[in-house]
Amino acid sequence: MSRASQDYKSAVKPIWCPGCGNYGAMKALTQAFLDLDIAPESIAMVSGIGCSGRMSHFFNTYSLHGTHGRAVPTALGVKAARPDLTVLAVGGDGDGLSIGGGHISHAARKNTNITYLLLDNRIYGLTKGQASPTTDFGHKTKTSPFGVDEPPMDALPAFIVYDATFVARSSTVHVAELTELLKAGILHKGFSILHILTPCVTYPVFDARTLKATLQPLPEDHDRKDKMAAIVRGYSTNPVFTGIFFQTEKPTLEERLEGQAQPFAPERSGDELDMLRKVLYDFA
Ligand code: SF4
Repeated sequence: MSRASQDYKSAVKPIWCPGCGNYGAMKALTQAFLDLDIAPESIAMVSGIGCSGRMSHFFNTYSLHGTHGRAVPTALGVKAARPDLTVLAVGGDGDGLSIGGGHISHAARKNTNITYLLLDNRIYGLTKGQASPTTDFGHKTKTSPFGVDEPPMDALPAFIVYDATFVARSSTVHVAELTELLKAGILHKGFSILHILTPCVTYPVFDARTLKATLQPLPEDHDRKDKMAAIVRGYSTNPVFTGIFFQTEKPTLEERLEGQAQPFAPERSGDELDMLRKVLYDFA
């Protein structure tokens, strides 16, 4: 069945500021769905709080705008209950790296088969421009009138150390590249995380021109199975690399859950199983 981008749009029109990088993410994600020919009703999108957290409202998919910092564990629950769906979590740097930061390592450890779009504009835009965990050292904001006095978090190398099985970076000003990486992340079997740099035009920490000047694709000979090389290139600031830094295979949470359910399969019987079924029934 041939689909059009319109099929993925909900009746809710985006209310981001004109020029916001989130539009680029939305365009890339729509194109990725189209290219992969995923039906809107086969997609579940869970978002956190913040400007980018509004993303789920604008797609004609199953969507849940969750609580602050909880997009990833909520998406994990959706995938555990409905492994047939393509499940995405979407959120910003404040949502995902501050209050929600502790969830990423566990989603990676469990290797739940979801794709996490971490849209990093290095600022809390929705609440009018306070410093986030990735705001540049010395940058002046309303909560740091004399300049941020802590170094920013370097998130991508941490995702690799957490053993996420797919770690990539792109930006919302490189929509074609971002589309390809989103497709690769969605097709990846396991926890895929995309660090997506995106300019906030209203409380800018960096702009589209800076991204175009500093971002550069990983070298063609980059071995995405080489974890140490991925970490070293993940730390690079000149240039800031884009592409798939690390990718490996491991059993997913959903596969392991399926294995745990096998002893309770309907065709099996026995006193112990009957007792367990009774306990589960009593709690149901
Ligand atoms: Fe986008 Fe910044 Fe406006 Fe939020 S405040 S919608 S991040 S430009």
